[in-house]
Amino acid sequence: MKYDVVVVGGRIGGSISSLFASKNDLDVLMIEKRQEIGVPLQCAEATNEVTFETVGIKPSKRYVCSEIMGADLYSPDGTHFRMTPDNERGFILDRKVFDKHLAIESAKAGTDIMLKTTVKDLIIKDGNIKGVVAKHLGKTMEIEADIVIAADGIESNISRMAGLNSTRRINDICSCIQYKMVGIDVEPNYMQFYFGSKVAPGGYLWIFPNENGVANVGIGIRNTNETAYHYLHKFISNLGGTPVELNIGGVPVSGNIKKTYANGLMVVGDAAGHVDPLTGGGIHLTAASARIAGEVAAESIKSENMSEGFLKIYEKRWKDQIGGLINQSLKYRKVLDKINDDEFNALARFLEDKDIWSISKREWFGLLKESPSLFKLIRALI
Ligand SMILES: Cc1cc2nc3c(=O)[nH]c(=O)nc-3n(C[C@H](O)[C@H](O)[C@H](O)COP(=O)(O)OP(=O)(O)OC[C@H]3O[C@@H](n4cnc5c(N)ncnc54)[C@H](O)[C@@H]3O)c2cc1C
Repeated sequence: MKYDVVVVGGRIGGSISSLFASKNDLDVLMIEKRQEIGVPLQCAEATNEVTFETVGIKPSKRYVCSEIMGADLYSPDGTHFRMTPDNERGFILDRKVFDKHLAIESAKAGTDIMLKTTVKDLIIKDGNIKGVVAKHLGKTMEIEADIVIAADGIESNISRMAGLNSTRRINDICSCIQYKMVGIDVEPNYMQFYFGSKVAPGGYLWIFPNENGVANVGIGIRNTNETAYHYLHKFISNLGGTPVELNIGGVPVSGNIKKTYANGLMVVGDAAGHVDPLTGGGIHLTAASARIAGEVAAESIKSENMSEGFLKIYEKRWKDQIGGLINQSLKYRKVLDKINDDEFNALARFLEDKDIWSISKREWFGLLKESPSLFKLIRALI
């Protein structure tokens, strides 16, 4: 078997990169180890308009559960403030449907898809990646390709096989667990976030409304001996509601891996660390890098140059588009990591009656007087 491009992984990163490679007339194979695209769900399903714009589709009721107008944030002592961005719409996706929709679009553009097939190794000749070794129902096969795109998520073995350094410190991975719950009394169109060392150390707890009292209730934590399950159950014991689905997963919040290309290889999405380190949101960033990888694959093959000298343009383009956001969020996350519960409460009290988008420097300096230890955060914000 021989393809122009083999894409490893069949969710957001895999479907979007294969879609754009196929749209550019390449022969593309996407390989997914699960038997069904998008399953199991490992996501709280929140995204913004950028995701749809990147793919070139409209938000549709088929894969959007609810529209989001803002967020309610709760500090450790329960002080609450609301954020309502002026120019940005948010959405809670039905990701199982959305991921499958993207795979269908990719297949319609010409992508071949193999399910229940695991890529076990790379074919490497003279330092160039030339395809993959895959296993399907006990049968091992070699599939040649001019370019391999690694869209294999946080576990990304492919980048490691290619010799790229994708190891992360354990404290740079958010350990997440989530229930989809029925009978949750939550205001539609507003996401809720809860912070504090006793609620969600090193992360936050979320309630994202789907529709009709269904919500994603989950938590991501770091740097703690207790499990995410422990903290989530402590929280939901006062919440009521019944779980209908349990999701578990890790989110890389350390920023991108150092190098995202090699001879004949590009790495996209979670595998590349294309996740916002502050929020843990990776859907819109994965979409961006995946589209760029699909387009660069086409340029590379048309130029008959699959060397890393050519493919480094992939890294330049995603850095131009999303690198600044990832770096800035990483900076914020590191500052927030150092804020204790009292400081968070002081910040929440300050924001309680304000529109966060129109706070003057003078007002921020007023907060600094009250809580000098917030200096680094305020400096990062203004
Ligand atoms: C609990 C949780 C909540 C989250 N909530 C949000 C949120 O609300 N908003 C947001 O924007 N982001 C969220 N994220 C992050 C978001 O889900 C990811 O950034 C996004 O799914 C990344 O897509 P991907 O295609 O790069 O990787 P993945 O979605 O991880 O897909 C990788 C695919 O590759 C397949 N695969 C892996 N290895 C192989 C192999 N060797 N052979 C074949 N197939 C393979 C896997 O089976 C999988 O289907 C959340 C993550 C978690 C864990």
